[in-house]
Amino acid sequence: MKLEQFPLIIPNIDAIKQEFETLLQAFEAAPTAADQKNVIYDIAKLVDEVTNQLTLISVRYTQDTRVEAYEKAQEASDEITPLFQELYNRYQKALIASKFRSELEKMLGSFLFKKIELSLQAFDPKIIGELQQENKLTSQYAKALASAQIPFKGGVYNLSQMGKFLDEADRYTRKKASQAIAGWFGEHEEELAKIYDDLVHLRHQMARKLGFDNFIPLGYARMGRTDYSPLDVKSYRDQVYKAVVPLSKKLVRRQAERIGIKKPLFYDLSLNFATGNPTPKGDKDYLVGVAAEMYAEMSPDIGAFFKLMVERHMLDLESRPGKQGGGYMTYFPKYKIPFVFSNFNGTSGDIDVLTHEIGHAFQGYSSRHIKLPEYRDPTMEEAEIHSMSMEFFAWPWMERFFDEDKDKYLYAHLVSAINFLPYGVTVDEFQHFVYENPDSGHAARCAKWREIEKKYTPYKKYAGFPLYEKGARWMRQSHIFEAPFYYIDYTLAQVVAFQFLTLMEEDRATAWKRYVKLCKLGGSYPFTELLKRVKMKNPFKKGTISRTVKKLEPIIARFDDAKM
Ligand SMILES: [Zn+2]
Repeated sequence: MKLEQFPLIIPNIDAIKQEFETLLQAFEAAPTAADQKNVIYDIAKLVDEVTNQLTLISVRYTQDTRVEAYEKAQEASDEITPLFQELYNRYQKALIASKFRSELEKMLGSFLFKKIELSLQAFDPKIIGELQQENKLTSQYAKALASAQIPFKGGVYNLSQMGKFLDEADRYTRKKASQAIAGWFGEHEEELAKIYDDLVHLRHQMARKLGFDNFIPLGYARMGRTDYSPLDVKSYRDQVYKAVVPLSKKLVRRQAERIGIKKPLFYDLSLNFATGNPTPKGDKDYLVGVAAEMYAEMSPDIGAFFKLMVERHMLDLESRPGKQGGGYMTYFPKYKIPFVFSNFNGTSGDIDVLTHEIGHAFQGYSSRHIKLPEYRDPTMEEAEIHSMSMEFFAWPWMERFFDEDKDKYLYAHLVSAINFLPYGVTVDEFQHFVYENPDSGHAARCAKWREIEKKYTPYKKYAGFPLYEKGARWMRQSHIFEAPFYYIDYTLAQVVAFQFLTLMEEDRATAWKRYVKLCKLGGSYPFTELLKRVKMKNPFKKGTISRTVKKLEPIIARFDDAKM
């Protein structure tokens, strides 16, 4: 079946409820562990069926928001989802309380039970009010940012549209665009600070109600972290400080020389080359054709997978009227095939869709044999390994996408990934401070942000921008408001992706074998255990970061960036 032939079904929640109740009764009444295991698989099938229906509704709706039937289906889905979650929650409780638990753990692995226990720790009906309030506040933040109307150069732009002026070769344009953005944040500082302060107090209150000292352990539980603690993360940040910050400083100095600016300010750091950024050569059909060639040459398994995605119309890449913005990858558990959504815009971001998102999709497809959805879906830091590593596996084919801009693309890709690590840990350290000191207030939060920022990214200079100088620039990082403690996951995955890159240099066949194995394992193990199984180094272990970064240096040295 092709995507457009998938039947759109609005889940019948009453029928689902009945079926679920019957299965739950069968679970409780099962006379042996083996019988209970069979019911677990039946429940997994039902969960997959419903997820499949809900996923298709959201896919159709994002493909064309103007169709009334899709809008209605989406509204129904929004109502059904929490009801279904409630049923699933009851199953989780029954599962961990099973009288056959130790036998089930032997058959199914103990990670499933740990995972469920953690998610149950993070939720209790007594915090439903706070959770609803939290949703309201994060939507308020998103709405405030989305509604920005910034007059610039005779036009009016929202914040993401302003982005294109930030890497313009003309310095005056970059400065003026940055001033316009800072001006908007200045006008909305009080409003955003209040939203955040409310969020912090709300989260603290939830944590206290659930029996935690503060929000930090609850935040970790919400992220599903079973195998590392805030202390591990702290020593990881220290490793980044020692091993990555010096290299990052060097790379920024080289960049300043390349673009011919002696004392760069923060708005100069987004311009990589005085001659402009690399752009892909060709339209969507050309790029998809190149991607098909690339994957066929990379390996027969991924070649066949990409072909299947194209044949079954599982790539919706071009912008068109009515289509929602942004991009994502999702998975249809019943049809065992992923779907990739994006809005091509002629920048190198289009190639990232064809590498990064296809990495996510290939993992989804490779894990399709896993029967339990809890084991199929990787945790956040695991999921980004598949996508970020695929960006590197695709390197040898970049000339076909970028032509003479190939080296520019590769160099900028690697350098921005390295420079991302110090920024990523800045966001993380800040959040630990915030939730450890929930009453600190806006001024103290800003002062702390600036202090941490100076430590990890000393090259960010804000002369002439008093709002940023005092430390309010964190307000533009949506994860800080919307997804507490998530940000560090990107950096952890990046460190593993770097290991794949350096292993490819030494032995590409082994790197690919380990990558495919990782994709097949899905989310069957916690992060550090998963790494062990594919023989990749644990980023938390002392020395991993410096060894990984050292191996990147010869790769950087291959590029003659002064000539780019
Ligand atoms: Zn991703």
